[in-house]
Amino acid sequence: MSVDPAPSSKAQTGRFDITVWGARGTLPGSGTSQTAFGTETCCVEMRIDGHRLVFDAGTGIVPLGRAILTEGASSVDLFFSHTHYDHIVGFPFFPPLYRAGCGITVSAGHMLDGRSCEEIVSDYMRAPFLPITPKIFAADVDYRTFAAGEALFPHPGITIRTARLNHPNGAVGFRVEHGGRVAAYVTDTEHRPGQPDEGVLGLFADADVVFYDTSYCDSEMTKCRGYGHSTWQEGIRLARAAGTRRLVLYHHAHTRDDADLAAIEAEAKDIFPGAVAARTGMTFSLIGPDGPEADHVDGD
Ligand SMILES: [Zn+2]
Ligand SMILES: [Zn+2]
Repeated sequence: MSVDPAPSSKAQTGRFDITVWGARGTLPGSGTSQTAFGTETCCVEMRIDGHRLVFDAGTGIVPLGRAILTEGASSVDLFFSHTHYDHIVGFPFFPPLYRAGCGITVSAGHMLDGRSCEEIVSDYMRAPFLPITPKIFAADVDYRTFAAGEALFPHPGITIRTARLNHPNGAVGFRVEHGGRVAAYVTDTEHRPGQPDEGVLGLFADADVVFYDTSYCDSEMTKCRGYGHSTWQEGIRLARAAGTRRLVLYHHAHTRDDADLAAIEAEAKDIFPGAVAARTGMTFSLIGPDGPEADHVDGD
């Protein structure tokens, strides 16, 4: 399976680096038994050719925001996979929103009820859930609503393909293409046993790195059907079918401690050597300072 690159995607070959800022699903972790894989909820940053693309605004987006301000960056493109709490709880606390002169684009396309991205954010940030509304932001915030399945072109040389995922209230997966390299962000989604999701396979196709919802193991699925999540074994089946090089186990159950995740990662690696479990602070470099990297992962 292949996806034709956009005409502009090979025009620039600036850097393509990825950082995990949060890898937990549902709830943040806590305590000392979860420090190796981290406690923050979903947030992945892709720095591409000088641009910052951020996927989800779980608690991990708060330290990311501090880093962005420290480095003096002035623009961010934020994409919500969907707006369940674990993916947006950090949004009102994202420091760049309170910095005048910052330009922040917030995009969402998972909605099943016709609402816009801006309406959802306004509905989320209001009394009695929060004492503030989006009116408090000092940054220049631009809300964009797209339809799942649409291709997005946030900057020259960057193409983002999207697909609807199988998740209660809707969710969207993203496939980011730049300079001939591909990284995909695919959470939260439930698979149907024996029926690989064609939309998800398209996001995985020949990708260098894929973040995938591995909340559960196959043995847990009978009691977890309908919750909208998948397994590390299904991630491997998809990665093999689609020619994915690296499968990043992601959206770790908040109940799993470091020993649980290390055991899952070891088992996954035995079956698919390209598997790795996401840890807060882990980085991937698809295009480094000297050009495309063969397979550079820090924190492996
Ligand atoms: Zn989630
Ligand atoms: Zn969800």
